[in-house]
Amino acid sequence: MSIADEIEFYTSFSDGLVVNPGASGRFGEYGGRYIPESLIPACRDLELNFDNCWNDPEFRSDLYELLTTYAGRPTTLTECKQLSKELDLLVMLKREDLTHTGSHKINNVLGQALLAQKMGKTRLIAETGAGQHGVATATAAAVFGMQCTVYMGEIDVKRQELNVFRMKLLGAEVVPVSSGSKTLKDAINEAFRDWVATSEYTHYCVGSVVGPHPYPWMVREFQSIIGNEAREQCRRHLEGYDPDFVVACVGGGSNAAGTFAGYLATESNLVGVEAEGGAAISKGAIGVLHGMRTRLMQDEDGQILEAHSISAGLDYPGIGPEHSYLSSVGRVTYESVNDEEVLNAFGTLCRTEGIVPALEPAHAIAWVIREAGKKIPTGSAVLITLSGRGDKDVQQVMEILQGKREN
Ligand SMILES: *Cc1c(COP(=O)(O)O)cnc(C)c1O
Repeated sequence: MSIADEIEFYTSFSDGLVVNPGASGRFGEYGGRYIPESLIPACRDLELNFDNCWNDPEFRSDLYELLTTYAGRPTTLTECKQLSKELDLLVMLKREDLTHTGSHKINNVLGQALLAQKMGKTRLIAETGAGQHGVATATAAAVFGMQCTVYMGEIDVKRQELNVFRMKLLGAEVVPVSSGSKTLKDAINEAFRDWVATSEYTHYCVGSVVGPHPYPWMVREFQSIIGNEAREQCRRHLEGYDPDFVVACVGGGSNAAGTFAGYLATESNLVGVEAEGGAAISKGAIGVLHGMRTRLMQDEDGQILEAHSISAGLDYPGIGPEHSYLSSVGRVTYESVNDEEVLNAFGTLCRTEGIVPALEPAHAIAWVIREAGKKIPTGSAVLITLSGRGDKDVQQVMEILQGKREN
């Protein structure tokens, strides 16, 4: 796709699009900052402030304090005794499910909220599809005493009643978006519009390693605590060795990017697992979406396809630009699994380890189960990031298994 095509392609909220290929924030040919001119100053300001804060020991120690005393870090490493035996592997889980609010998303929102506070902002905005990132952002806003507005497609508002109520309990305003397809895509456009108008006092809290520079970089840095902790914990557990395989599920790609950040410099094989119906790497082509150049699920005319998977958290047609890059240079392998494999893996972890995983990381578990003794040689040590707990998914799984609901 030519740059001209990309410009034309990305017009949904544009008020005069500026392509900024000279800016940093490129992962090879991916990433960048494909946004309306009116948003460039806000992104630059954020980039500068993040860069300063991330190199500031006081910011780091404030964030560390929050992560330990509020979010419950460091999260533990668990060896799966039964599952390892069944698969003839040594399977270890990095337990992000044990954090406050039950997933890795808290690492990112606390980082961004602290940064916003240091920048003098008093309000957080976010967009959410399934509601999980909205809940995480509302949580962070509550901790920092900030105002919070969450944009959500009208259809998603109806589908995710409980999360909408949860956000309201946490003090957030939830704005249903009734334009376009009334889902995540439209909510993102509304959030960008809000930010253009209010960036003086508002921080836009993006939920994954996606969007214009500096978000993919910044969110990866906030999530790198997963990989850095896991590497040290695994080395202790494996008497100095790194795992043969490090596996994480990929929606936008933040838990995977944070996990891999701790392992890029090692010899471990890195594997990102996508949902079959949201496989931006396996089935995608290069395009521009949400301010970044990356691999996207699209048809021959460049129309973005709607992602579908059993887990709402992986229903994203794109993927963070760094993943597109890591795939192109062959450092990370991307695989996909189908809904049935995911349901089986969900049940297997419950039965063998007494852990109810979220459906998202059940994708990573499903791939390990499928490839044990095949792509993963017998006897290998495998680290899986368990990005979240499955309480939110139990009712859905029950209804599917009882035949009351389609996947
Ligand atoms: C949101 C979510 C994901 C997907 O987001 P990434 O940015 O790809 O990590 C994965 N797992 C859980 C538990 C989530 O809540």
